[in-house]
Formats: sequence, structure tokens, C-alpha cells
Amino acid sequence: MIVCPKCHKDLPDDSEFCIYCGRNLKHPELQEGGNPVGTGLKPNPRKNHLGRYSILLLILVVVIFDFILGTVFNTFGWNVKIVYWISFVLYLLCAGMAVFSMYVDAVDKKNGFEPTNETGLAIAAIVFAFVIILMNLQSVLLG
Ligand SMILES: [Zn+2]
Repeated sequence: MIVCPKCHKDLPDDSEFCIYCGRNLKHPELQEGGNPVGTGLKPNPRKNHLGRYSILLLILVVVIFDFILGTVFNTFGWNVKIVYWISFVLYLLCAGMAVFSMYVDAVDKKNGFEPTNETGLAIAAIVFAFVIILMNLQSVLLG
């Protein structure tokens, strides 16, 4: 029997990896610096889905405000800038949700929990939100 240097459990002599904590026993140096085997992070009980919610809200606002309400206001000759200003606030809200999502992930990681990795979605939401805000601002300023 050998003993895992990390979790101190008994293992068969020929073990290459610890079956309990995933530590690489033959090449312990591979363990340092973000080896995917055994990140040392606990499973996260909290599900942070703000990343995907921010994308969903963004798509809803684009469809409902910019396309549908924008068209309706234009058709009836109402001031379409009102629609753009409301959607502007909602886009900022989406970007804020995405930033908060990344903040929650960072805090979870710091506290030893695996982050719910929706960072890609969160970044996409932020970029998308600001592109649409710029496009709408252009319409408001020029229109
Ligand atoms: Zn171990």
C-alpha cells in the first residue's frame, strides 16, 4: 500500500493517480499550475445562470423593443426615440447582469467552489449589448 500525499488515503502500490482526489502520483509536478485532474474546487451548490439569462433578456429586448415596438411606433408616426431609450436601459441591465455573473463566479472560485462557467455567455452578452447600444444611439442621434 502507498498513501496519497494529498488526501492521505491508502492506495494500491501500482497506482498512477489517486482514485479519491485525482492527484498524479507518478508525476506530482504535473499537479501544479492548473492541472485539470483535481482542481481542488468543491462542487458548487449554487447554480449561477445569470450568463444565459442576460443573453435571453438581450434577445427578447431586441425582438420586442427594437423590431416589434420600433416598427409599430414608426408605422403610427409616434416618437420612436422612447422605444430606443427604454431598450437602452434594458441593454445596460443585460450587461450589468453579465458582469454580475462573472463577479459571482470569481467570488465562488475564491471561496473554493467550482464556478458555473458561463463566462463565454456573459462576455457575449456584454459585447452584444454594447454593439446594439451604439447602433441605437446612432439611430437616435441621426434620426
Ligand atoms: Zn488523494
